[in-house]
Amino acid sequence: MKTMQAAQLTKIGEPLKLVEVPVPEPKPGEILVRIKAAGICSSDIHYQDGRSRVTKLPITLGHELAGEVAECGRGVNGFKAGDRVSLFYLVTCGKCMMCTTGNDNYCSEAKMLGKNIDGGFAEFIAVPERNVFPFPESIPFSQAALIADAVATPFHALKRAAVKTGENVLIVGIGGLGFHAVQLAKIMGAGQVIAMDLSAEKLTLAKKFGATAVINPQNDDVEGKIGSLTGGRGVDVAVELIGLTTTIRQAIDNTGPGGRTVVVGICPNELGLNPYQDLLLKERSIIGSADQSRADFPVIIEMAAQKRLDLSYSVSRELHLSEVNKGLEMLKKKNQSLVRIVITFP
Ligand SMILES: [Zn+2]
Ligand SMILES: [Zn+2]
Repeated sequence: MKTMQAAQLTKIGEPLKLVEVPVPEPKPGEILVRIKAAGICSSDIHYQDGRSRVTKLPITLGHELAGEVAECGRGVNGFKAGDRVSLFYLVTCGKCMMCTTGNDNYCSEAKMLGKNIDGGFAEFIAVPERNVFPFPESIPFSQAALIADAVATPFHALKRAAVKTGENVLIVGIGGLGFHAVQLAKIMGAGQVIAMDLSAEKLTLAKKFGATAVINPQNDDVEGKIGSLTGGRGVDVAVELIGLTTTIRQAIDNTGPGGRTVVVGICPNELGLNPYQDLLLKERSIIGSADQSRADFPVIIEMAAQKRLDLSYSVSRELHLSEVNKGLEMLKKKNQSLVRIVITFP
């Protein structure tokens, strides 16, 4: 039996362990992918510390993946060995009403790579053919990996908000997702893109990639500044990527008439709401956005291939699989200039 290295979470609260496990066999309809790049996401920290629950232990983490087709299982016709592919991280049934209407993320049978089933902090992974999306050589593997989450998640959120040309968009939280949200809002035709974060360095980066204004709540009067930027109306769309009740509240409070707040950050706590003030009076909406859909992949890949979406600054560090715990520690420290740390495989 062939074996491979994988970084597994074996116990909540402990560092990942590098273990030798069997290389998975692609079942009929599945593709064996040789992982070339795997992004480290804040969610991986949450799985490790138990804030967000994995459903099996030990589990190989890693859900932001790109690689090369190594082998095709019986019945796979659309791919061949050597194809470069980015991986959609939800393994869904593919047959239900939700899956067949482009809402794969609502599939009641969805299992997430690196959370419910083994992910890609490993040399290989076997996934259904419908989970892989080809991308051209012009996109490096390390950047293609980020498409699966750091790009697709904010893209999905902005689509949920149905951003219209000229609308003003507030992005709350400029991490791996927020940095791309700024670029995507601009591509989608936003008028102003206002980036909010506590880190001056992240705000500088946001400006470089399309933010028309930045707000640092440590130094700025948030409502005053948004008011002066929007003629007192407030923004049309606010995307909250942090997951704190205070920042979700801030997002809602700073949307104007007809404003939409999209909640992406995972917040398990109650949020006080006044239906009259918060919703009815200005006809505002609060929208949830979870993961992304398969339908998002081809669009993002094309934008990246055309260089409309610039991912050249998105990979802050490349590490070896054996350094995965170092990567998780770096991310926990919220190192100011990090967009994404990516595990790459030679
Ligand atoms: Zn993630
Ligand atoms: Zn389904």
